Amino acid sequence: MSEEIVQFFIILVAVASGWLLGYWYRPKQKGSVTDDTASSYYKGLNYLLSEQAGAAVMTVINELPVNIETLPTHLALGNLMRSKGEVEGAIRIHQNLLSRPSLPKDKLYQVHLELARDYISAGLFDRAERLLRDVVDESTLYRSEALTHLQNIYQSEKDWDQAIAVARLRLPQKHWLKKQAVATAADRAVECSLSHYYCEKAQRLVYSRDFKLASKELQDARYFDNQNVRSLLLSAHIAIQEKKPQLALDLLQSILENQPAYASEVLPLFREAFTHLGNRTQYLHALRRIVEKVNCTAFIIECADVIAECDGSEAAERYLHEASMQRPTTGLLAAVLERSPNELSSTVLTQQFLQQLKAERPSYRCRHCGFSGQKLHWLCPSCEQWGTIAPIRGIQGD
Ligand SMILES: [Zn+2]
Repeated sequence: MSEEIVQFFIILVAVASGWLLGYWYRPKQKGSVTDDTASSYYKGLNYLLSEQAGAAVMTVINELPVNIETLPTHLALGNLMRSKGEVEGAIRIHQNLLSRPSLPKDKLYQVHLELARDYISAGLFDRAERLLRDVVDESTLYRSEALTHLQNIYQSEKDWDQAIAVARLRLPQKHWLKKQAVATAADRAVECSLSHYYCEKAQRLVYSRDFKLASKELQDARYFDNQNVRSLLLSAHIAIQEKKPQLALDLLQSILENQPAYASEVLPLFREAFTHLGNRTQYLHALRRIVEKVNCTAFIIECADVIAECDGSEAAERYLHEASMQRPTTGLLAAVLERSPNELSSTVLTQQFLQQLKAERPSYRCRHCGFSGQKLHWLCPSCEQWGTIAPIRGIQGD
């Protein structure tokens, strides 16, 4: 809250100083015109300082001339209105500027961009879209900023085809003969979002069981980010549906090797793929090999369950006990107590406590903003970054 107030005052000071500078350095004219401009400056500033936003807007629109000297004041006041949530006032100021053809072309595109941001704040996406399209087509100076806004609009409308088309325009053009220079962080972020847009399309196609087209989308997803876990998980799911369990296992194996933090997401698909391939003993061998490399609670518990089937519950209890001694996660402790509840009378209480602890703690956290929750969101609801949320690792996690 206090940050907002500071921000408001910084903008207010900017508007006020722009206002006064605009007045002092105004083109010198004779007679009453200058006095009128001066009085409108002071009148508008008074309204602004006394928090009468609507009156300040009307004074500026009706009395302050629009020219290259006063433009920064108009724009600053428009932005101030928008940042205060007075979107209607901001729209009125920016529309007033567009109705004056006296401004140079590049300044008009700047106003287009500001008006588009007003429309986005007001949720009027179709109007913002039209303005931004014009800027993209006609202004090289503001093209990149307009494309960023357009991409955000299509993303929030879940219009993945349009989002893809716009995001692709943000990337540098590739030359077939030239080796591509190292991508910048901004390019990487665009590629990461592109990869997830293709995953979104693939996910829809998987729901409608169009696996062939979905696989094509996933190829594109990996073209832009070959480490995208989501695309690999979806491909493994498709491979299982298409009765290609070995392919599914290979894909899952590559996740375990390159991004072991996602091991718990891999397990359900791994289990399903293996049921088409081998018997329980072979499955146990495969699980043990994975546990050796990836110390993952979900895989250890799965391993214990299969040991119980193959070698009896005592062997499973011993295995779990050893594993939880080595790396005591709450999940493992709960599993131990669940399987050997009669060792001590207090274990029942401990078990309840651990189960509660397990249920209450968040399972996923965003490594960008720290947002945590019980569900794996591929687009962080807090900071709106793609692919930053991962299962929580550590003693209380996976
Ligand atoms: Zn986040």
